[in-house]
Amino acid sequence: MTSLTNKVVAITGAGSGIGRALALQAAAEGASLALSDIDEAGVAETARLCGAAAQVRTDRIDVSDRDAVEAWAASVVEEFGRVNIIVNNAGVSLSSNIRDMSYEDFEWLMGINFWGVVHGTKAFLPHVIGSGDGHVVNISSLFGLLSVPSQSAYNAAKFGVRGFTEALRMEMLIDKLPVGVTCVHPGGIKTNIARNGRGDDFHDAQEVADYFDEELAKTSPENAAAAIWTAVRRNRPRVLVGADAKILDKLIRLVGSGYQ
Ligand code: ADP
Repeated sequence: MTSLTNKVVAITGAGSGIGRALALQAAAEGASLALSDIDEAGVAETARLCGAAAQVRTDRIDVSDRDAVEAWAASVVEEFGRVNIIVNNAGVSLSSNIRDMSYEDFEWLMGINFWGVVHGTKAFLPHVIGSGDGHVVNISSLFGLLSVPSQSAYNAAKFGVRGFTEALRMEMLIDKLPVGVTCVHPGGIKTNIARNGRGDDFHDAQEVADYFDEELAKTSPENAAAAIWTAVRRNRPRVLVGADAKILDKLIRLVGSGYQ
């Protein structure tokens, strides 16, 4: 895929943060957009920001609801005639140590951060393949590469997204299907996700959290989105945004020391 011009792009969690920035940049490049979020006002605002020239449709969709995601995909294809790109971006956070975490909270997070990605991929994939020039973009996390205390559910979901996405990429390559696949690992992007989370803050990992805020939270959603679209155009299997390799290495050493 060399350009987003005239592509039909579907994005979940498009009501804020990275999802909104991805939408605005795709609109500026001449894509048509199907934007969804559980936050109806947020996604409406994203559509407004896309400007009057862009063809944008918005829906209130909870990605943990498989039937709702499937109905959304069918309806988008009916309206736009095709879908080239699905971006599975919706996500929530949860900080809790394992001993205190309820199954209810664990399942809530997995339903959105893991199953939401599976639902979006499964629902849109036949159409993305059928477009003849498609791409699946799944948002994992820095914490899909690195485990930290108080983030076991988030780690489980994001490692799951990474494994699922890497396998999908191999399947598309082996079967010579016209679909690129990119797994995105954001770390330290300034968004609302931390504020939208359940549970308390890092406990014993406070040092990690402080470090994360001070050293990593420097990248804007706009910069992250630009890096993601570049990775899509180049069909990169993986893109780490927000934390460069040097900082990641430091973080891994810091977290490593926390285990001693
Ligand atoms: P980030 O951009 O880092 O992913 P944000 O919190 O800014 O963090 O964006 C995540 C988006 O996902 C928010 O707009 C939020 O409303 C959305 N979201 C959260 N839960 C769901 C859900 N169950 N279904 C769809 N979207 C959701």
